[in-house]
Amino acid sequence: MAIVTPIETQPGERRRLRLASPATLEPIDEICVANADDVRAALEAARKAQPAWAGLSVRERARYLVRAQRVLLERQDEFLEVILRESGKPRSEALMMEIFAGCDALGFYAKHAPRFLRTEKKKLHGVLRFLKKLRIRYRPLGVVGVISPWNGPLILGLNPTAQALVAGNAVVLKPSEVTPRSGALVGEIFEAAGLPEGVLQVLIGDGETGAALVEAGVDKIAFTGSVATGRKVAEACARRLVPCTLELGGKDPMIVCADADLDRAAGGAVAGAFLNTGQYCCGTERVYVVDEVADAFLAKVLERVAKLRQGAQGEFDVGPLFWDRQLATVERQVAEAVGQGARVLAGGRRNPELPGLYWEPTVLVDVTHDMALMREETFGPVLPIVRVRDEDEAVRMANDSDFGLGANVWTANVEKGCEIAARIDAGSVCVNDMTMTYGVQEAPFGGLKQSGIGQTNGELGVRSFCWAQPVLVDRLGGRQTASQYPYSHKKDAGIQRLMRLLFGSPLGRWLS
Ligand code: NAD
Repeated sequence: MAIVTPIETQPGERRRLRLASPATLEPIDEICVANADDVRAALEAARKAQPAWAGLSVRERARYLVRAQRVLLERQDEFLEVILRESGKPRSEALMMEIFAGCDALGFYAKHAPRFLRTEKKKLHGVLRFLKKLRIRYRPLGVVGVISPWNGPLILGLNPTAQALVAGNAVVLKPSEVTPRSGALVGEIFEAAGLPEGVLQVLIGDGETGAALVEAGVDKIAFTGSVATGRKVAEACARRLVPCTLELGGKDPMIVCADADLDRAAGGAVAGAFLNTGQYCCGTERVYVVDEVADAFLAKVLERVAKLRQGAQGEFDVGPLFWDRQLATVERQVAEAVGQGARVLAGGRRNPELPGLYWEPTVLVDVTHDMALMREETFGPVLPIVRVRDEDEAVRMANDSDFGLGANVWTANVEKGCEIAARIDAGSVCVNDMTMTYGVQEAPFGGLKQSGIGQTNGELGVRSFCWAQPVLVDRLGGRQTASQYPYSHKKDAGIQRLMRLLFGSPLGRWLS
């Protein structure tokens, strides 16, 4: 059974979708798909509300984030229920990835955005410093469209929304149709925090709504989702000359050096691969382990995987895939890899004891880079492990990918880990940890190659929702420009003398 199925509607009616639980396959909800008219109306309301919102100081706007944090903290059980119903994920994962991370992001931007967005006075170089003064003002872009995926149904909408809002923008958010009510919580949270009407609107819908939002005339799109959709969004934005950030898919490698603490590395591999049922953009999708420790590492991984509890109720470790289409991808990639010679050491099949979209935590060896499993994003609970001769081979194989989102390196020698990190083509790298930079707000987050365009989070992320506007003030009140004309050979000779002085002598170079 599909998790999202269209409901038959009459011509002229808004389309509707039926949702089923990924854990039980029982129907849980129906949604009405917002169309281009709804998007236009939301944009109009956002345009009306934005100037007054931008007129508040950053500190005043930050107070709404603090209130939103309080709402999230106080009503967390109610919100968790919504997320668990739509995703089936273990409560602990929803608690950490959605609620804790949400509270942390709101608190972080409330506290630090006033500093990130403070007007900066820049010291100018050379003789310019005697002639001009420069200020850089961070002004909001206007209305930002946020389009989010289903794998982090609350946090991946909440985080960019909080950053765009605190920067003074109005936001129209379009969460995934797979987890629409979890995404809509972002709106509920800010409404309960007292956000002025129109500043944030949530549109429930699918690709039709998302595409309409991109075309509606917003001032920026912050998109998180697949490469295929990201490319469509980028094309539409390019046509409209609208800036966009694209946080797309990944195929994160993990490198295990011979000197790594193998127990911890095994724990890191298991958490990296199976967290959120592997539906984690920075999930570990490929492991390269140095040959001399490969057997010991593999044994430790298998020991841990055997203890994972898959389930739907009470305490369990691994939930279902959230979407039937994702399960189909996992099934296809594993079957193809096995057909091409890969060996399954754990899992490798749907869980026969559970009715929902459960794929058993899977470990494979004898995989090669010509398998789709090693080249395409899997986004499921699958851990392929490859033996490599040495660290150089590991780096070469890690870089042999169209993706470049995250990576992680395990070694007892942190300096060596950092050196290896610098050689990996990835948006971010963790040493002795699974890739978890998205949860560290100070770290700019984004992907290289097909994993995206632009970065989010931290100072850079908040500023990406602004236009950095330089305001240049002439110290001489315009006297110099007023005497621009007439040109003369005498003036030219003066400029040439000045250039020789500034750029032709050590003292001049020091001054300039
Ligand atoms: P998706 O691309 O199918 O959908 C993402 C969003 O785009 C949804 O809200 C969807 O309704 C909307 N959409 C669909 N068609 C659209 C169109 N033509 N125009 C505008 N919007 C449209 O992705 P998904 O399956 O929801 O999410 C999983 C993907 O997201 C994975 O590839 C994962 O790696 C990626 N992801 C990336 C990050 C990151 O930060 N890099 C984080 C989480 C997930």
